[in-house]
Amino acid sequence: MKKEDCIFCKIANGEIPSATVYEDELFRGILDIAPAARGHVILLPKNHAADVFELPEEEAQRVFPAVKKIAAAVKQATGCAGVNILQNNGESAGQTVFHFHVHVIPREEEDTVKIGWKTGAYEGNSSSQMAERIREKL
Ligand code: AMP
Ligand code: ZN
Repeated sequence: MKKEDCIFCKIANGEIPSATVYEDELFRGILDIAPAARGHVILLPKNHAADVFELPEEEAQRVFPAVKKIAAAVKQATGCAGVNILQNNGESAGQTVFHFHVHVIPREEEDTVKIGWKTGAYEGNSSSQMAERIREKL
């Protein structure tokens, strides 16, 4: 299903032209319009899902095989040293376009891309409590 006024629905379904690098029946991979690095690709499902929580099972099962192919092609085409595979959900997580997408970002040893966090620590047995809390929800 497409969502009215969703730009990524229009791009994924070919209604707005894009620099397409990958297409199958469920997804389109395009060059990001404001790339973190040359060769930065975003993979979009053709059906609208705002984020990973809305992503149907079929797309969920098929997304990583497509990402893997794209990552390998990006690495060969750009000669990059590595890639980040990134997928943001929610404004707090940095999502700006609310149609699920996966970033494939080429990386070099010294580049300007910043993806990081300040590391924390679990105290006492709080890590097993947290693990248990998550397991219960699966
Ligand atoms: P996110 O912050 O994870 O939601 O990423 C949204 C990404 O979409 C950003 O990297 C934007 O540069 C990219 N973007 C936004 N509009 C377009 C567009 N029309 N074509 C290609 N990429 C886009
Ligand atoms: Zn959409």
